[in-house]
Amino acid sequence: MTAHAPPSPAPPIGVLVELTHRCPLGCPYCSNPVSLERPAAELGTQTWTRIFTEAAALGALHVHLSGGEPTARRDIAEIVRGAAQAGLYTNLITSGVGLSEKRWSAIVEAGLDHAQLSFQGADKATNDRLAHYDSAWERKRAFAAMVTNAGLPLTINAVISRGNLHQVGAFIDLAVELGARRLEVAHTQYYGWALANRAALMPPRKEVEESIALVEGARTRLKGRLVIDMVIPDYYARYPKPCAGGWGRMAINVSPSGKALPCHAAESIPGLEFWNVRERSLAEIWRDNPAFQAFRGTDWMQEPCRSCERREIDWGGCRCQALALVGAAAATDPACHKSPHHARIAATAAAEAEADASAIRWRSYKDKVEA
Ligand code: SF4
Ligand code: SF4
Repeated sequence: MTAHAPPSPAPPIGVLVELTHRCPLGCPYCSNPVSLERPAAELGTQTWTRIFTEAAALGALHVHLSGGEPTARRDIAEIVRGAAQAGLYTNLITSGVGLSEKRWSAIVEAGLDHAQLSFQGADKATNDRLAHYDSAWERKRAFAAMVTNAGLPLTINAVISRGNLHQVGAFIDLAVELGARRLEVAHTQYYGWALANRAALMPPRKEVEESIALVEGARTRLKGRLVIDMVIPDYYARYPKPCAGGWGRMAINVSPSGKALPCHAAESIPGLEFWNVRERSLAEIWRDNPAFQAFRGTDWMQEPCRSCERREIDWGGCRCQALALVGAAAATDPACHKSPHHARIAATAAAEAEADASAIRWRSYKDKVEA
């Protein structure tokens, strides 16, 4: 019998590039790794431009320019130009606090297609406290105006935790007021800094359910004016999310120093070697890196996923979450009610929702705990 190479995977739809881990904010829910990559290790402009060309040749359609804070890169306009010239749809994911009108104009002129602006709260006090940055509120509002004045579509990203869960309605009003076309009400996903701060961030189930009902009502009321997407908290879900659309299936993340990852938290799984875009092409990594193949498809699955009718819907959930909560990356994501660990995870969430929320590790290179 002839040996066959594994079939080439379908191309990724998008690439998320973490241009830098530098960020002026200190959000405790940040999904960046707790060991942030240093500025000296960041890829240069030309390498990023090559990656965009390779991504487009591979079949990717869009690039999310993220971080950290991507505009902390002085060459952000050149990076946007490289992505646009490669033919990718360009989305800037930003905290909105660091851009002058002049730098923003250069980014727009370079070919940016869309901006996604995060808010930590729907009023100044809440926003600036959770952002750990005093004038973030005014700066974000000014940035939203710059986006709409440039005629670019604006998405507001509201990351929800216990400290701002009561503001879901106000976030919806804020998005309408700022002229956003889309609002993402994203309950915190517990990776990186968010996992370290979980007990301070976890919301109570009852209030989560109320917020879901509120969003559903607003969707009907604002149909045609504002699209509202919602990410519900895993720990209270019945089924897990299809993390990254399935491991090595739809997306590639690239870290500031060039490590190509199936998802932003993948490095938390020991024993996997992630190839670097400095040394290999994106196509080679996507096709041949054993780390991308480790949980691709369904062959790696254990029960109950292996025989489940949803195995090609949610792809068994999140490998990093399975490792963090159950100790095995190939286990069923315990966010799934079929996992033998699900009841314990839900009980942990309920207990943490009652825990003291004052001790927070603000995201920073210095990693300090303050009330
Ligand atoms: S989540 Fe907050 S701290 Fe993390 S990169 Fe985004 S704006 Fe910066
Ligand atoms: S058992 Fe596995 S495949 Fe089935 S719903 Fe749960 S996580 Fe998804």
